[in-house]
Amino acid sequence: MKAEPYHIVRNSRIHGRGVFAKRPIRKGTRVIEYTGPIVSEKEAEKIGSEVIEGHGHTMLFQLDNKRVINGNKGGDARYINHGCDPNCETEQDGDHIFILAIKNIKKGEELVYDYHLQVEGKITDEVRKEYVCLCGSPKCRGSQIAADLLEKQAKKDAKKKNKKDAKKKKKLEQKKQDLLKKAEKKKKKDAKKKDKKAGKKKEKNSSKNGKAADPKAAVTGSKKADLKKKKEKSKKKN
Ligand SMILES: [Zn+2]
Repeated sequence: MKAEPYHIVRNSRIHGRGVFAKRPIRKGTRVIEYTGPIVSEKEAEKIGSEVIEGHGHTMLFQLDNKRVINGNKGGDARYINHGCDPNCETEQDGDHIFILAIKNIKKGEELVYDYHLQVEGKITDEVRKEYVCLCGSPKCRGSQIAADLLEKQAKKDAKKKNKKDAKKKKKLEQKKQDLLKKAEKKKKKDAKKKDKKAGKKKEKNSSKNGKAADPKAAVTGSKKADLKKKKEKSKKKN
């Protein structure tokens, strides 16, 4: 006799269709098997891109380095959404993947497991958008992508940012130094100009003094003195 299934497929608040507990599930129960034909990684890549352009559900399960279960042609487990604080996880038994309850699950609760999604290359904003998580858990990391991959990318991003910031700082410092140098140069130039001007003024002053020492002026001076003397003399005569 086949046991009554633990699950039911319904519309999910997280994304598209979801899988829910049809009845209470005890922790440690194998709820459902993730079924579908086993395909090569290459085939899976092709399917993956088709899936993304289609309804957006990730319906592939990496079995090992070279093989993937194509959930598109499999059973209900393909509808299980990703969750960042999951009540299930996957358990591999040979070539079989089971969805295992890791908590006691109440009737009606949505079953979720952490996809630990593996993506190749840089996790750009675009990639992030593609695999955004809307599980709604307080522990939600905002992405279905494996936490360790996100961490690695975050570290890389931070390093890059630090490098960029350091470069920017260096550039700014260089600019500041250049400006200072320029200002210093200008100051020196101005000081030189001032000295030159002052020198000219001095020359002018000294030439003025020269006039005072002019023999003509001296003559006039002495003439005046002579006139005075003459006047005094005439006064004495009177
Ligand atoms: Zn989440």
